[in-house]
Amino acid sequence: MAVIPVDIAARPYEVRVGSGLLATIAENCAGRLRKRAVPVITDSNVHAAWGAVIDKSLREAGHEPRWRILAPGEQTKSWEELAATVNWLLELEVERGDHIIALGGGVIGDLTGFCASIVKRGCHFIQVPTTLLAQVDSSVGGKTAINTPAGKNLVGAFHQPSLVLADLAALDTLPQRDLRAGYAEVVKYGLIDDAPFFAWCAENGAAMLAGDPDLREYAVAHSVAAKARIVAEDEFETTGRRALLNLGHTFGHALEAETGFSSQLLHGEGVALGMVLAARYSARAGLMPAERAEDVARHIGAVGLPANLAALGLDCDGRGLVRHMLHDKKMDAGTLPFLLMKGIGQTYLDKQVSLDDVAVFLDE
Ligand code: NAD
Ligand code: ZN
Repeated sequence: MAVIPVDIAARPYEVRVGSGLLATIAENCAGRLRKRAVPVITDSNVHAAWGAVIDKSLREAGHEPRWRILAPGEQTKSWEELAATVNWLLELEVERGDHIIALGGGVIGDLTGFCASIVKRGCHFIQVPTTLLAQVDSSVGGKTAINTPAGKNLVGAFHQPSLVLADLAALDTLPQRDLRAGYAEVVKYGLIDDAPFFAWCAENGAAMLAGDPDLREYAVAHSVAAKARIVAEDEFETTGRRALLNLGHTFGHALEAETGFSSQLLHGEGVALGMVLAARYSARAGLMPAERAEDVARHIGAVGLPANLAALGLDCDGRGLVRHMLHDKKMDAGTLPFLLMKGIGQTYLDKQVSLDDVAVFLDE
């Protein structure tokens, strides 16, 4: 098992990465679960795969799990589910010192974390991420949110978990497509500021996705450490450092918006193609050699993620995609900061990018 500290000022916590953490969840949470009743929020897919395992561990330790099993999918991050879940927690008489368990992917983590941030003005929660995306990205860093008619993740809070338990065994029941999509966020850490890690991914990514346990532990632990480092440097996204985590996301979000945030394109798939586009745009602007951008495209394509726009079969042009970017929540006083690359592992925030030029690039 790897233990990665997240050294944020107010309340540091740790991320444990290993196999079998779900089956021993009661031991892993020892000292935190003060009462017999333990609220566990999850979705029906995760409950079907792991509910019995968790239930057994908690009951053997003398606890009585109180399950809230939500519908899987992005629509669960809603005002309605926020209200219903908060009311449910209040009916359970959750107190500030209690811990709520968030068991699932980013949807469950984001919703549960937001509930925990507002119940009694903030109570504790434990992230138990069960998707690769949630393990390497959303469970660490304290961003929580719901979606509204105006857009995704526009309402939320910074609220850090008190512990993160990333069980690699959970990945065994995750659909291959979700696993691959989460892998895009792993590659992202290499492209941001860690060229040796990108090289590791290029060499080992396919075997890691195929199930090699040692490679999985290394990939998740290394990614968590990267995220923890960036978050510790910029907990509330004020210095610009944390913005680096959005590499590929401006293009990616535009593609997601174009597909109506449907299952036609998963978030990680949009990010994968978004990183390729960011790399190619950077090469076109003379910032880095075209061969390096093609190294990125080759690896993304080799693991079965989309590496060019044609692969998506979308019926839209550059102008249409740029129109979506204008609604990006990173828009700041009329300009959209763009993450570009001076090389693999040399991502930086460029405030001079012309969206007109981006539209031309997308049509080339
Ligand atoms: P998700 O939570 O929807 O999970 C994907 C699918 O996998 C769901 O159908 C789920 O039921 C199923 N599933 C989860 N774990 C499983 C398991 N072990 N076995 C079988 N099935 C399983 O999606 P996600 O990709 O984990 O997260 C996406 C969400 O995360 C988005 O809402 C996004 O906005 C959010 N996000 C948040 C942050 C952050 O910093 N807070 C960062 C990135 C993404
Ligand atoms: Zn992402």
